[in-house]
Amino acid sequence: MSNDSILSLTFSNQIINTINCGIVVIDREYTVYYWNHWMEIYSHKNSSDIIGKNLLEVYSNLNNHQFIRSCKSTFSFGNFIFISQKLHKYLIPLKAFQYSNLNIDYMQQSCALFPLRDENNIINYICIAIYDVTEIVMYQMKLLDLARTDMLTGIFNRRYLEERLNEEWERHKRHNRPLSLVIFDIDNFKKINDTFGHYIGDIVIKSVAETAKNILRDIDIFARYGGEEFCCILPDTNKTAALYVAERIRNVIENNNLKLNKHNIKLTISAGVAQMNSSMNRSEDLIRLADNALYMAKRAGKNRVILEI
Ligand code: GH3
Ligand code: MG
Ligand code: MG
Repeated sequence: MSNDSILSLTFSNQIINTINCGIVVIDREYTVYYWNHWMEIYSHKNSSDIIGKNLLEVYSNLNNHQFIRSCKSTFSFGNFIFISQKLHKYLIPLKAFQYSNLNIDYMQQSCALFPLRDENNIINYICIAIYDVTEIVMYQMKLLDLARTDMLTGIFNRRYLEERLNEEWERHKRHNRPLSLVIFDIDNFKKINDTFGHYIGDIVIKSVAETAKNILRDIDIFARYGGEEFCCILPDTNKTAALYVAERIRNVIENNNLKLNKHNIKLTISAGVAQMNSSMNRSEDLIRLADNALYMAKRAGKNRVILEI
């Protein structure tokens, strides 16, 4: 080997051990041939301990159809393959310790597989490059969360509710399951704003949201639909059960004495309930029906629940 080649090899080694990404080299039997310094740090495995071992045995989650097919394709055809492991996925489970205060246990990864050819252009080894994209995923999750959350109450917003209603609509139609919807609106809310001010009005909206959320199930999709109007999708629920839920929310709010700044605020709501039926064409029809029922409840004197049939 010439002096130049030796120098170049020494440089390559230093570069590979310094770059901010994981480099793993395996042969056709998935035996680890190379494990760079980055991998040592994040996997807590010294290269001397893992080199020579079977990667699929060390990380059994890699023993899956997608990974094996990707490796085979790289060995056979020399393909470059990119594996995006974003949003709660990973290729090799590496602890994301710098994000331990967040809801992310494992480093989110974006990975590339590529062939390593010898001087005769033969591929006996492939390289797996692992990039840490946890921070990007974190911001994506934050953005997703912001896009679906109502800032005042912390429950879902109208856009997300409508998105989910379309999905639930299709799913329930396909499986022929009952789907119901409740819309409710605080009675005489303008008067609350006028009497106590907008700030107290906001607290009232928040407290109503919290009360209803505590009554609903985790699988129900509850959102602020407008100013002081709320909407709730009740999956796998028929109209009788939905009526019961709406009546319970109405009853609890009526009997909740909200004490704010020494004011004793009496609150009531009116609600409309509807169930998906075969005469409806679109998910909006369900909202329209529940909204009609809410309108009737207001017309009939408020503080009541009406089921639209
Ligand atoms: P009804 O019993 O028929 O529902 O009458 P209402 O007085 O509740 O009137 P309506 O639902 O038509 O109006 C709601 C009012 O809520 C109008 C608006 O000024 C107020 N509002 C809307 N969004 C907010 C908000 O975020 N905070 C506060 N404090 N008030 C809001
Ligand atoms: Mg109102
Ligand atoms: Mg209203």
